[in-house]
Amino acid sequence: MREALFIFLIILLLAGFTLFRYRRHLFAMLELYRTVQGIRERRPRAQMPDEPAARGPLVNCQKCGTWVPEDKAVRLGRSAFYCSTKCLETSKVG
Ligand SMILES: [Zn+2]
Repeated sequence: MREALFIFLIILLLAGFTLFRYRRHLFAMLELYRTVQGIRERRPRAQMPDEPAARGPLVNCQKCGTWVPEDKAVRLGRSAFYCSTKCLETSKVG
């Protein structure tokens, strides 16, 4: 029984020594794992705020008052914007 306890203590000591010896490697691996996990989690989130920024400023449709991205709006002159050609056409008639 004493021998078993002695062997167990040696194994524990070796395990402790190994952990102590390679603690930097273990922390580095843990950091790497966390970084990889962080990148995986961030990717879908990062795409969402990029979308509205790429659209540019919003402009108000002169006809129906709908807010549309400037690059998608139909422009008439300098400051007149329309959400669609349909609004532009009806605005001309009216
Ligand atoms: Zn409109």
